[in-house]
Amino acid sequence: MQKRLNMVLFGPPGAGKGTQSEKIIERYNLTHISTGDLFRKHLGEGTALGLEAQRYMDNGKLVPDEVVIGMVDDKISATTDSNGFIFDGFPRTVPQAEALDKLLTSAGQSISVMISLEVPEEELKQRLRNRAKVSGRADDQDDEKIQTRIEEYRAKTLPVAAYYKTQGKLVMINGVGSIEDIFAGIRQVLDPLNQLA
Ligand code: AMP
Repeated sequence: MQKRLNMVLFGPPGAGKGTQSEKIIERYNLTHISTGDLFRKHLGEGTALGLEAQRYMDNGKLVPDEVVIGMVDDKISATTDSNGFIFDGFPRTVPQAEALDKLLTSAGQSISVMISLEVPEEELKQRLRNRAKVSGRADDQDDEKIQTRIEEYRAKTLPVAAYYKTQGKLVMINGVGSIEDIFAGIRQVLDPLNQLA
């Protein structure tokens, strides 16, 4: 099977993954898999999966790996026609990254690159407080929950960058500046890969 452009967009809460993923999807025509969005959709529809995830999300904790992996597996299997995937907010633990490698391998695919948006912690907190005013997200609303999410990120998610670094797939991009400048940095990484895909 032909290799596609499959990428992981990585970074702490508030790094700008949602904003940049919209631009990436438009330019490269990728299928978006955002586990946060999928959980919020389940929650809105009142499914059992949504209710289970809510217990963790409301407290800023990570949803258990097997729940997340099952949901991503379903989404990949249900996608028949695609130029590739952009994974956004996933994988967030090393076991999730290992599971993703297995899922893609069995589909004859692999991760092409992980792009990590680098943003200092003080800037992240400020962005999340601002987002709280407009997002309506329960997990954006208080400083304690924001702190928990940043701690979860440091303890469980940061090792995922090392996982892809070992595979030679990690590229760090400056995540501070205008949306267009940050996207220009991303294009420099993805344009050459897209020609190969
Ligand atoms: P996000 O929209 O990516 O910030 O995700 C919102 C919340 O959904 C997180 O704080 C977690 O509770 C949950 N979540 C989203 N993606 C994952 C994941 N890959 N692993 C575990 N929990 C997740």
